[in-house]
Amino acid sequence: ATGFQALNRNDVQEIWRKDHDHFLHPWTHFDSFKKDGSLIMAAAEGAYVYDASGKRYLDGIGGLWCVNIGYGRREIAEAISRQALQLAYFNPFVDTTNIPAAELAAKLAELAPGSLNHVFFTCGGSTANDTAVRLIQYYQSRRGKRDKVHVICRRDGYHGSTYLTGSMSGKPADRSPNLHFITDFVHHVSSPNVYRRPEGMSEEAFCDQLVAELEAKILELGADKVAAFFAEPVLGAGGVIVPPKGYHQKTRELCRKLDVIYVSDEVVTGFGRLGHFFASKDVFGIEPDIIICAKGLTSGYQPLGACIYSDAIHEVISAPDPDGWFTNGYTYSGHPIACAAGLANIELMEREDLCGHVREVGPYLMQQLNTLRDLPIVGDVRGHHFMMCVENVADPATKELFPDEVNIGKRIADHCERLGLIVRPIGALNIISPPLVLTRAQVDELVGILRQSIEATMKDLKAEGFM
Ligand code: PMP
Repeated sequence: ATGFQALNRNDVQEIWRKDHDHFLHPWTHFDSFKKDGSLIMAAAEGAYVYDASGKRYLDGIGGLWCVNIGYGRREIAEAISRQALQLAYFNPFVDTTNIPAAELAAKLAELAPGSLNHVFFTCGGSTANDTAVRLIQYYQSRRGKRDKVHVICRRDGYHGSTYLTGSMSGKPADRSPNLHFITDFVHHVSSPNVYRRPEGMSEEAFCDQLVAELEAKILELGADKVAAFFAEPVLGAGGVIVPPKGYHQKTRELCRKLDVIYVSDEVVTGFGRLGHFFASKDVFGIEPDIIICAKGLTSGYQPLGACIYSDAIHEVISAPDPDGWFTNGYTYSGHPIACAAGLANIELMEREDLCGHVREVGPYLMQQLNTLRDLPIVGDVRGHHFMMCVENVADPATKELFPDEVNIGKRIADHCERLGLIVRPIGALNIISPPLVLTRAQVDELVGILRQSIEATMKDLKAEGFM
């Protein structure tokens, strides 16, 4: 990769020492961190990343579901460099703006469905969801509904890691008893996990049950008290969960009927991962009131998030406010360099028809991953296009999981790493969310290494008496 020189063993160890002693990583598992040390990523090109010693890996997770355009794209680097020299920063508060922010907001309004024509820029997905809650509560209050403050999310949902969005997230593993969560206005309903639906229930009946539960929750809290429903079109970090057929339309309709704002959190599903700029409309046929995006918006080249909201909301919040104003904003909202990266990224995506590429190669990735089902610990292969996962179980017939101490996802991911592939372990799952430039030949490489790694893991488990 451009300008990269592999480090020698002493230099690698020096980085390890600094990292270990001073850098608290996000979501660190201290046990494995102490045992294995860190994998130092140092360079990347296309769909491959290189560690500091120069070992190459196929990046099966696009950095963290975000490097959609692939690594080392000169056009984005140059846009960033040009903007840094021209105007690195100036605050966008009140009535000041900058050229890339205005251009990108207009571009997002053009790409987003229907009447979603207004953009609030943030520093990433968490701050975009956090902003959405404040924006919605402000909107509800401005239209005379001051008590409409409650927010409903889903178990297994992930919306971020600020105090508020950490509370909105519903992954049981992330709700540490040693942390505190906002519970006075944040609520959860069931995960739409089709694989783990009640034994013997049809997908259709499961869908109806989920919709009925959401309706009951809104009515229990009082429709006049519920501000919004937050949903990822496909739940990402909670386990690549594609809700049952009809779920999106029915929950969307219910929210419309009960005057609840529908927020589609497209931080992962947006920007081509499901074959379109936005999945809500083009994959699932719904038009939300608000779309949240981040990650693929700049393909990870710069931190940036956006809360894209409707004309109807804008009309209410932009009317003169006798009590003050919408007091929300970050120093780096609409950061010129991040917005310039976003514009260059979108231009490349359009020029190279990356969404079309995903629609073409996505079904092949799914088909090839499905060939892993002959392995006796592969319980489920699921997802859509470039957002996939494999669920590993002790017994596919009963869907029973391995005991926690087996750490099945991590074991498989470790074998993959040894063999030159990065997949992400989450509990029993291995997540696959590669850069969208992945070719068919690279799909074969990915699935081949994953198969070898699952086989190697089964061998280990047999030796240890777990199988
Ligand atoms: N929403 C979803 C659906 C996400 O997957 C994530 C991050 N993985 C976030 C929000 C939070 O985004 P960030 O980490 O950029 O704050």
